[in-house]
Amino acid sequence: MSIASNLNTIKSGLPETVTLVAVSKTKPVSDLMQAYDAGQRIFGENKIQEMVDKYEQMPKDIQWHMIGHVQSNKVKFMAPFVSLIHGVDSLKLLQEINKQALKNDRIIDCLLQIHIAEEESKFGLDENELNELLSSPEFKEMKNIRILGLMGMATFTEDQNQIKKEFTHLKSIFDSIKELNKENCNLTTVSMGMSGDYQLAIECGSTMVRIGSSIFGGR
Ligand SMILES: *Cc1c(COP(=O)(O)O)cnc(C)c1O
Repeated sequence: MSIASNLNTIKSGLPETVTLVAVSKTKPVSDLMQAYDAGQRIFGENKIQEMVDKYEQMPKDIQWHMIGHVQSNKVKFMAPFVSLIHGVDSLKLLQEINKQALKNDRIIDCLLQIHIAEEESKFGLDENELNELLSSPEFKEMKNIRILGLMGMATFTEDQNQIKKEFTHLKSIFDSIKELNKENCNLTTVSMGMSGDYQLAIECGSTMVRIGSSIFGGR
């Protein structure tokens, strides 16, 4: 199957309310251009340098999403153009994003990553840390970031019930904060679901799915 037909099949199965991020990490620009030519404009990368390289080579109407773990010292390289940063998991990182956004005279949209998986290795905040961050005086001061919602990754398992439990948990945390009326929040987005579990994620309330291998093939 071609990239274009994979993309069209997936898109035709998504509700209109769900945004598709085409996860193109490790894939060459020629593959991304096939998706671009089929109409895709949102691409997700997990390494900042790779995203910058692709940004420089590709059309400028693409929205670039950073879906990987972000090191503070690299934020400056993507600050001029990144459209959404999914993996924000500390106040310190958010402060650096705010600082670099200010330097570029823009507002950078972010998602806060929540730890929902059983595995220790996955990054993210727990519910208490999330509430602490959102109610901190430092957060209130930040004028150059905007929080659009939450992102999470389920445990890598075949157990559908386990995955469903974790997605439902993320959605319930989102529901608990979504009425927050803060100037730097516009809480609309729950980023959850990948190639193997996006249909389940949508059933559980996902509004943004991050799909790589089902579009571009294995890595
Ligand atoms: C790689 C990656 C994806 C896409 O995974 P696929 O299984 O290839 O769809 C989604 N989210 C994150 C954070 C990733 O790193």
